[in-house]
Amino acid sequence: MTPETPMGEGLPGPTAPHPGDSPDPQLVELAPEDPTINTANQQLEDGVNRCPTCGSTDIQLRVSSSMLICLFCRHEWAEALVEPLVSGQESLRDLTGTTLASGAADIDNDADAGMLTLKCAGCGSEVVVNTSEVMSSRCHWCRHVLTVNEQMPNGAVPDAVLPFTVTRDQAVAHIKEFAGKRKMFADRQFVAEFTPENVVGVYLPYMVVDSNARGTVEGVGEVQTRKYTRGSGDNKETVYDADIYRIDRHLDFTVDDLTLESSTERSDMNAFVNTNNVINTILPFDTKNAVQWNANYLVGYTSERRDTDVSALMPALEDQLLSIVRSEVRSSVTKYDRGVRWESEGVAVHGTRWVSMYLPVWLYSYYHEDRGRAMVHYIAVNGRTGETMGSVPVSHKRLAVAALTAGTVLETIAITILAVS
Ligand SMILES: [Zn+2]
Ligand SMILES: [Zn+2]
Repeated sequence: MTPETPMGEGLPGPTAPHPGDSPDPQLVELAPEDPTINTANQQLEDGVNRCPTCGSTDIQLRVSSSMLICLFCRHEWAEALVEPLVSGQESLRDLTGTTLASGAADIDNDADAGMLTLKCAGCGSEVVVNTSEVMSSRCHWCRHVLTVNEQMPNGAVPDAVLPFTVTRDQAVAHIKEFAGKRKMFADRQFVAEFTPENVVGVYLPYMVVDSNARGTVEGVGEVQTRKYTRGSGDNKETVYDADIYRIDRHLDFTVDDLTLESSTERSDMNAFVNTNNVINTILPFDTKNAVQWNANYLVGYTSERRDTDVSALMPALEDQLLSIVRSEVRSSVTKYDRGVRWESEGVAVHGTRWVSMYLPVWLYSYYHEDRGRAMVHYIAVNGRTGETMGSVPVSHKRLAVAALTAGTVLETIAITILAVS
């Protein structure tokens, strides 16, 4: 404890507590703050990303090895995995409260609207970078690469990055294959203008959440005991006897690395663009392999800024937890052969832990107008697994013609429609 500093006579000011004093109740109420885990990459504290071997700033991701490579001396390295930093020794069963990794903190929209001034360590000039668009820039004077390393409270810098391992060439091949299978009913213009080489690598912002929760569902289940016929002639009816049970089910469970979208911009565009659905179909990502933030992983790729805070994502999390509860409970009520009617359901979230993360996606987009309605179609490739999904604009005329022919073709139509919806 620091010795008490005398303040001027009669002036109000802070004083050190006397031994034996009870703590101020007001302060005690404020005390239990949500814990934060600092995930900042210490090596980047001077604000310049340098090669640890030669000091050059010309660094980028080498996709084939999933490592950073110095373009000057060819040294390759990877940043540390984030998972051990975040999880520590604690079991998910003991998770309570809301724990945030530092990159998942609330976005401060007033701070700087994404504009950031970087001082070039090479020549000292100041370069402004709009972090809502780019996360790295080259100093236009000395060509030093300036990157955003500091975790600013504007949602631009996540805790972790999952680097691309699927190369551009591999992504192009996946997209060609996907579109090729659907070519038969595809819009002619789409086929003519198909240029999968225009694929772009994008890092999309996600929140990766661990939770410790208890789900409860209550309702009524029926077991048939007898089935018989009553009456005769025209008045015959079948009667079922059943025992009715009141059922409740509790499920204590933990969820490791649930992936939640953290860009509302993309969710809101749904009516016009169907990326949201498309991206969900190429999940999951191997989020355990995500590494500490280093902006050089993003050199040559675009990225989207996170714009949603943890509190705003809570309902989405609870929804997902509830659907886990429903599906887990389903298998425990099979003996109610006349069915179960759930009357109430709920989930109590004991603890959550949030990490913000950039996940890699290759995107091929195609703008298309169908009978006056604008649509953007996407084919997305998971930048880690190569899983590919998307939508291809269909030619309604071709579909109609095909529907008249029978047999195996119909199956193909069903598949095509599935891919579009
Ligand atoms: Zn080097
Ligand atoms: Zn410079």
